[in-house]
Amino acid sequence: MSSDLVIVYHRQPYEEVVVDGVVERRANKSPNGIVPTLKSFFGRVGKGAWVAWKLAEDPANPDFEPVVEITDNFGTYNVSRLPLREDQVSSFYHVTSKEAFWPILHSFKDKYNYDPVDWPTFREVNWAFAEAAANEAAPGAVVWVHDYNLWLVPAYLRTLRPDVKIAFFHHTPFPSADMFNVLPWRAEIVQSLLACDIVGFHIPRYAQNFIHVARSLFDIEGVDEEKSNPDFVPAGGMALQERITPTYLNHEGRKIAIGAFPVGVDVEFIQERARSPETAVSRYRIREGLGEDCKLIVSVSRTDYTKGNIEQLQAFERLLERRPELRGKVRLMHVSVSANRNMTAYETVQNEIEAITGRINGRFGSFEWQPVSLIGNAIPFEELIAYYQAADVCWITPLADGLNLVAEEFCAARTDGDGVLVLSEFAGVAVALSDAVITNPFSHRAMDSAIDQALDMQEEERRARMLQLRRKVAKYDIKAWAGEQQRLFDMVSDGADQTE
Ligand code: UDP
Repeated sequence: MSSDLVIVYHRQPYEEVVVDGVVERRANKSPNGIVPTLKSFFGRVGKGAWVAWKLAEDPANPDFEPVVEITDNFGTYNVSRLPLREDQVSSFYHVTSKEAFWPILHSFKDKYNYDPVDWPTFREVNWAFAEAAANEAAPGAVVWVHDYNLWLVPAYLRTLRPDVKIAFFHHTPFPSADMFNVLPWRAEIVQSLLACDIVGFHIPRYAQNFIHVARSLFDIEGVDEEKSNPDFVPAGGMALQERITPTYLNHEGRKIAIGAFPVGVDVEFIQERARSPETAVSRYRIREGLGEDCKLIVSVSRTDYTKGNIEQLQAFERLLERRPELRGKVRLMHVSVSANRNMTAYETVQNEIEAITGRINGRFGSFEWQPVSLIGNAIPFEELIAYYQAADVCWITPLADGLNLVAEEFCAARTDGDGVLVLSEFAGVAVALSDAVITNPFSHRAMDSAIDQALDMQEEERRARMLQLRRKVAKYDIKAWAGEQQRLFDMVSDGADQTE
């Protein structure tokens, strides 16, 4: 019970590799992942702790270390590891979170799979997370819980430790009440979120959806807009349409701050890397490999039915059909990293991606020119920056996406001020990046006209749009987000007793 800030996130904040029988803990590879950002908060507090799960068939094994102390660039902090068996991980994460919650969060009712859910196991795992957080938190500490797989933690934690401040951040979309209320555990989940002091989302639409869901399930007193804290300064210095200052809900005598706080990227790091000689060399090689007068479109995502990979590949096939003059003059680098290889829904998408790519390359390709390069393995982030720089167009077309960091990274990497971003209106980041060419991946016509517009855009317009995009991305970078979250924690901590 000694940490001022306890971060509860299901993954450990490092990668564990066994070298010659010895466990080595290394920093996570992607510097833009959420993990390093969260760890940076440890530099702001006296003592920090992290709670995650770790696979352990026999937690009684003396080799299992339930708590490890880590010292890295971010300071010294405890990592409390919950020992979970494989069947618990499968039930809590792969089944309940990925087969039931994920499709509903992204508004894919047809992918929702309710039957295999074992709710008691989900509760049990969430309870274990809450207990571990309760053990780590100092009196009055802030406990910061992340994402839907830990939805029940706030309620359990509130009973174990009424003194702590609880913040919850959603990294996904939050759907409308019609969609969310499909979940039979809806009341239990929302009741748990209402045990928080702060509930955060990426964009105002998700926050408003949550408020509607809460009001559809509970007798919540009118949303207390007037009590929004006038002193709270959002990232970027002012409340723009894409960020809202907290709105308060009153529930069972408690006040809960609800707000939209979109995460940003590490602009300084990306720009530094973008300007490095190594990136210049890689960028040159990529362009040289393309050949003269050939345009490069890059698309970077995970393999997931939410990411719109299929819709994009189909649009590329139509592009080559509609505009024969582009054959040999445009290439698509389609990075689609397979993360969940053992799940049927993802396997199906993967197979379809491979089939369409094969068809396009077979129909239109030649010995000299392969229209689509499909890449299934993750590209190291540093290398990705060179592709962002070499691209004429970055094409991002999710059907639903909490935010989408790739869009921001692309703009941050374009230190040359050129390049076109084509962005689905269903990526959360489209709210802020409205100077992109915005498209609707559910419409063939919208997809076709957006890619045409991007490929044909004149330099003057490209630069004017990119200037605005880069301003937004720089203003709402990761440091602004971290400062904003810290001000929120200070606000609830200063307000000491949130009870009315
Ligand atoms: N990424 C990467 N290499 C790849 C593909 C993706 O480093 O080959 C990184 C990318 O730079 C970004 C993150 O993975 O930081 C993906 O984040 P995003 O918000 O776009 O999508 P998510 O996968 O979180 O839904």
